[in-house]
Amino acid sequence: MGRPAGFIVMCCVCRKVRSNTGKWYKRRHLSHNSIVSHTYCPVCAEKIMAEIRPQAISNN
Ligand SMILES: [Zn+2]
Repeated sequence: MGRPAGFIVMCCVCRKVRSNTGKWYKRRHLSHNSIVSHTYCPVCAEKIMAEIRPQAISNN
């Protein structure tokens, strides 16, 4: 009992995994019973925002 083991936050772009301390690192193997939550790491989020911004401007 207690908190669920193996809850993983993974970047869906570069496949990096966030550690408990908030750092992002490459990880080769995930345990089978891990619950994976897909999101964007700060680096990929910034890239996506940079791609979205010009479109938003041109739509105006
Ligand atoms: Zn990423």
